[in-house]
Amino acid sequence: MASDSFDVIIAGAGPAGSTLAAYLAKEKVRVLLLDKAHFPRDKTCGDAIGGRCLKIIGELGLMDAFEFVPREEYDKIYFVSPNGSNVVIDIPQNPSVPVPSFCCRREVFDNVLFQNAKSQPYVTTIENFTVTDIIKDEKGFVVGVKGMNGNSKQPQEFRAKVVAGADGATSTVASKLGQLNLDPNHHCISVRGYYSGITGMNKGIEIYFIDQVIPGYFWIFPLEDGKANVGVGMLTKEIRSKNIDLKKRMFDAIKTRPEFIERFKNAKLISEVKGWTLPFGSKKMKLAGDGYVLLGDAASLIDPFSGEGIGNGMFSAKHAAPIILEALKSNDFSESQLSKYQDDLWNQGLGAEIKMSYFLQRIGKFKRLANFFIGKAQRSPYVRETISGMLVNADAKKKMMSPTFYLKLLFS
Ligand SMILES: Cc1cc2nc3c(=O)[nH]c(=O)nc-3n(C[C@H](O)[C@H](O)[C@H](O)COP(=O)(O)OP(=O)(O)OC[C@H]3O[C@@H](n4cnc5c(N)ncnc54)[C@H](O)[C@@H]3O)c2cc1C
Repeated sequence: MASDSFDVIIAGAGPAGSTLAAYLAKEKVRVLLLDKAHFPRDKTCGDAIGGRCLKIIGELGLMDAFEFVPREEYDKIYFVSPNGSNVVIDIPQNPSVPVPSFCCRREVFDNVLFQNAKSQPYVTTIENFTVTDIIKDEKGFVVGVKGMNGNSKQPQEFRAKVVAGADGATSTVASKLGQLNLDPNHHCISVRGYYSGITGMNKGIEIYFIDQVIPGYFWIFPLEDGKANVGVGMLTKEIRSKNIDLKKRMFDAIKTRPEFIERFKNAKLISEVKGWTLPFGSKKMKLAGDGYVLLGDAASLIDPFSGEGIGNGMFSAKHAAPIILEALKSNDFSESQLSKYQDDLWNQGLGAEIKMSYFLQRIGKFKRLANFFIGKAQRSPYVRETISGMLVNADAKKKMMSPTFYLKLLFS
């Protein structure tokens, strides 16, 4: 059994893990980045890359790397309510973001982030390495990981001053810490498939609150060459209590909803329909402890309304990096040092945003409220502008949390 030592071990090289590796490498931190998969690898997702991701991609100097990869830009969101009323919300170009939002298959998107991390001089990567356990010292500090190296077919362990769990929704690191708690009230299951030949695609992402999937939504997101990512997601609690077959619901909506029948008439399903889980940020987890931090889905950070988790995962990496750096400089890997990351993350806007999204998710559960909200947005430029601003601007997000907004919503 070989043993090596690093400053930081990152378990999982998805958007959260690869982003953390890139930020730490800028500061010459010696990182070991482990992933059980070999890149490029697929990840079941809606593939919508929002403004928060783009800002970080810009900071990491990766805009050029995305310029020529297959992707489709979008500049608006269509919301459709259970009673069929709909509203189009423009996504204004955020001045601090270099390009418009886009959809990009995760096989492509994650590979760009991973190859960037791999190319950094201070980052060692091992693909096909499955982390199976954490190592603790006599004081209970996490000091390393154990795993199976799929290349050598040998068990192997590595040690570091900090271990970052970025190994996704079924995180082994979080599980071994006793923190993987998939609460069905704060957790969703989604399925998605790739289609070609859907008509009426128009540089927008489309979200339908329809009977088949409430509480949840049906989506059509545009991809390169006229392809689309089509999927549905619902709260796990609902799926379990009603024994719902999500794939069936998706196909049923496509076959029976008047808004889809014509558009899917000549469409072809060009992939398997795959499902995966989304741990929502409305369930607040402990994100750091003695010797460790958790990021992205492993930290349950997905937006409970939109299901967006890529940007939140990358954002968590951006906020963990300076705290880890501070820990390395002060040689303090205690919970009191590393948990500053959690405080920063929640105070830098994510906490308020997740709170608001949880509120919107609950509105979406009630058909009448969803009809009312989308109907109002359809009629009121004030509501549309507020939602539109909310998509790019932290102050506008705060505005949506204020009682004044809801009073105006009622009386506008
Ligand atoms: C159907 C669906 C649709 C979604 N749509 C969107 C969307 O459109 N936009 C959006 O922003 N978000 C979306 N999400 C959420 C998004 O996919 C996740 O939030 C995002 O992938 C989180 O990134 P991550 O780096 O934390 O985890 P992941 O992307 O899951 O990466 C984790 C990595 O860890 C590796 N790993 C796992 N276990 C181990 C182990 N034991 N040892 C070593 N490596 C391991 C995996 O191979 C993987 O590479 C969707 C999710 C689903 C399920």
